[in-house]
Amino acid sequence: MTQIAFIGLGHMGLPMAKNLLKAGHEVTGYDVVPEALEAFVKAGGKAGISIAETVKEAALVITMLPEGKHVRAAYEGSQGIFNHIQQGALIAECSTIDIETARHIHKMAESKGMRLIDAPVSGGVTGAEAATITFMVGGTKADFEAILPYLELMGKKIIYCGGAGLGQAAKICNNLILGITMIGVSEAFNLAEKLGLDAQTVFDVTSESSAQCWSITKYCPVPGPLPTSPANRDYTPGFTAAMMLKDLKLASQAAQLASNATPLGEEALSLYTLFCNQGGKEKDFSGIIRFLRGEVET
Ligand code: NAD
Repeated sequence: MTQIAFIGLGHMGLPMAKNLLKAGHEVTGYDVVPEALEAFVKAGGKAGISIAETVKEAALVITMLPEGKHVRAAYEGSQGIFNHIQQGALIAECSTIDIETARHIHKMAESKGMRLIDAPVSGGVTGAEAATITFMVGGTKADFEAILPYLELMGKKIIYCGGAGLGQAAKICNNLILGITMIGVSEAFNLAEKLGLDAQTVFDVTSESSAQCWSITKYCPVPGPLPTSPANRDYTPGFTAAMMLKDLKLASQAAQLASNATPLGEEALSLYTLFCNQGGKEKDFSGIIRFLRGEVET
C-alpha cells in the first residue's frame, strides 16, 4: 500500500483517484471546491485541508488540474507542492497544459532533486471511470518506469513519448486532430440530414468506411446511434467546449513556437471560440454540431 496525494478531484481526477483507492492504496485528496472533496470522501478517500498538508507524507503525488496557471499555483510558492513534498517522492502531473509550463515544472523538480513526469491523458470521463484512459508520458525513462505501476491502475495504454514535456506535446497533437475531426464529422452529419439521410444510416456507413474515426465511433455528435455519447443527454459534458478551446489554443501556441503551419487547427480554434462565446462553453465539445447548424445555446 502506497500513500498517494491526489490534487484536483474534478471530472477526471475523481474517477482516477477512485481507481487508486480500489487497488488498496491510501489516497488523500485535495480540491479547492468542497463538493469535489465531499464526493471523494464518499468514495472512501481521505480529505486533505491544503496542498501542503496533503502532500507532506505522500510517496506519490498526482495532479489533475484545469490549466497551466493552476499547475504553477499548485506547485510553486510557500504553500505549494515543491515546498512540502518529502525527498524521494514521485510526481505525476496529468493535466493538459502548455509545453512551456510542463518544462518549467520539470526544471524546478530537477533543481530540487524530485522525480517528475508529465503524463496527460486521453479517453474522457468514461475512460477514467473504467480505468481505460491512455497516458502520454514525458520525462526520464527511469522515472516513467517507477510511476508506471500506478498509471496502470488508472489506464490501459501507457505510452512513453520521450523527455520533459513530450507527453504534453503528444497530447496537444492528439487534441488538435480531435477538434478538427469533430467539426468535420458534425458538418457531414448536418449535411446528410439536409440530404434526407437518417443519422443511423450515416453512422452505419461512416463508422465502417474510410471516414471512420473516434469522433464517430466513440463520441457520435448526434443522438441515437451511440447511446453513451453526450449528444444523448443534451450535450452535458464529458469534455467541455471550453476545454477543447483551451487545447486548440495550446496547439496554436505550440505551432507558433515551432514555426509550423496548422491552418485547419486555426480554423477549428476560431469555430470553438465562436461556439464558446455564443453560450456553448459549458456544453460538451461535440455540441459544436448545433452551432454549425446555426442554433444558439441558451
Ligand atoms: P475539472 O475542471 O473538472 O477538474 C479540475 C479540478 O481541479 C476542479 O475540481 C478544480 O476545483 C480543481 N482545482 C483547480 N485549482 C486547484 C488547486 N489549486 N488546488 C486543488 N484543486 C484545484 O477538469 P477535468 O475535466 O477533470 O480536466 C482536468 C485536466 O484533464 C484538464 O487539463 C483537461 O484538459 C484534462 N482532460 C480532461 C478530459 C475530460 O474529458 N474532462 C479528458 C482528457 C484530459
